[in-house]
Amino acid sequence: MDCLFCSIAAGEVPSKKVYEDELVYAFYDIEPQAPTHFLVIPKAHISGCGDVTKDNSHIIAHCFEVITQVTKELGIEAFRVVSNCGESAGQAVFHLHFHVLAGRDMTWPPG
Ligand code: 5GP
Ligand code: ZN
Repeated sequence: MDCLFCSIAAGEVPSKKVYEDELVYAFYDIEPQAPTHFLVIPKAHISGCGDVTKDNSHIIAHCFEVITQVTKELGIEAFRVVSNCGESAGQAVFHLHFHVLAGRDMTWPPG
């Protein structure tokens, strides 16, 4: 399958790594929307938040453990986690990813 984030997780496409273990890879976004902006992805291909199942939900839970650990390590106290699911919601890469954004004030509701 031709998937950019599968290739990034496999190290075939270079990226600036933030964290890695057997289940999860995290790397800085190429087009940051905040002073700190990284992406947390499962290494296994899951298309998006609409494809979470009983069989893979432990990986999603682990993504959030990683988010907690990495934000603590980076000394980030306030941050936003975003996952766009579907084209009209802003999803451009169809491999599940959590955006972690920090370092500036953010508005709510999002645009
Ligand atoms: P989406 O719009 O699908 O929620 O988010 C995709 C994100 O991936 C975007 O923020 C975009 O900047 C980022 N992105 C796209 N291609 C690459 C790439 O090759 N490397 C990195 N590091 N980020 C990418
Ligand atoms: Zn993929």
